Amino acid sequence: MTSEVTVRWLGTNAWELKGNGKTVLVDPWVTRFRTGATKESDWDRDARLEIDETAVDEHIGEADSVLITHGHWDHIADLPYVAPKTGATVLGTETHLNLLRAQDVPGEQLAEVGGGELYQFDGYTVEVFRASHNAGGKHKTILFSGMRPGRVPKRPKTISDLVEGGSLAYLVTFGDVSLFFGGTSAFHEREIEGVRPTVLFLQTPSPNYPRPVERILAATGYPPYVVPTHWDDYEEPLTEPAVDWLGGHALGDRVAEASPESEFVLLDHLESATFGG
Ligand SMILES: [Zn+2]
Repeated sequence: MTSEVTVRWLGTNAWELKGNGKTVLVDPWVTRFRTGATKESDWDRDARLEIDETAVDEHIGEADSVLITHGHWDHIADLPYVAPKTGATVLGTETHLNLLRAQDVPGEQLAEVGGGELYQFDGYTVEVFRASHNAGGKHKTILFSGMRPGRVPKRPKTISDLVEGGSLAYLVTFGDVSLFFGGTSAFHEREIEGVRPTVLFLQTPSPNYPRPVERILAATGYPPYVVPTHWDDYEEPLTEPAVDWLGGHALGDRVAEASPESEFVLLDHLESATFGG
């Protein structure tokens, strides 16, 4: 079965995938506010969570599934509005879902996954893989690490209340076209060995990992297309061209060297690309 999938970048790691008349969202976060992360290189733990409903309504329409890669604010902070608005099925770890329950997201929409699942949805499949969040600094620490299993925590108020809560990678397949998300430097090489996506969404590498770009390209079979993600300064407006905070453009040279046959597809804010067909 041949399919066509159109992907649109909503900044950060937020993607809209459309194929077979269905819509899948990955980490749909479009409310942008100052946290100190991108300018001061230090996070203000007490930065208040907020949701810009007008921005969400402008950029996010209908959705059938939402895939959460981890619980940080720049991935899930808009979900208390996006989930009820779309009625989508939301996949995430127990902790991610507890953080959403604490913000009154209806429990019946929440599908707990841990890696290893392969689900059939109407028009596409989603396979889930265990992953890890990038570790930072010489001591290899994870920002706002921690789990909230077992029970629903107090309502999150600040960015540090949205703990990482475990990380997941996803392979989304529409007919012949498959898209792999979770290409951080901290991917689990042995988990994803044999995955053969059409499109690899790749984050910029961290020095805490040996040859991460080369290894993920090899583990995923040198995909035909590589799309950089999560490289923009997410404290700058989504409606302006992306400010290259983490080296998304430079990633093209490393991909070209490690996988000359792969096409590097760099999208700007709100731009789309179509694969397959
Ligand atoms: Zn992030």
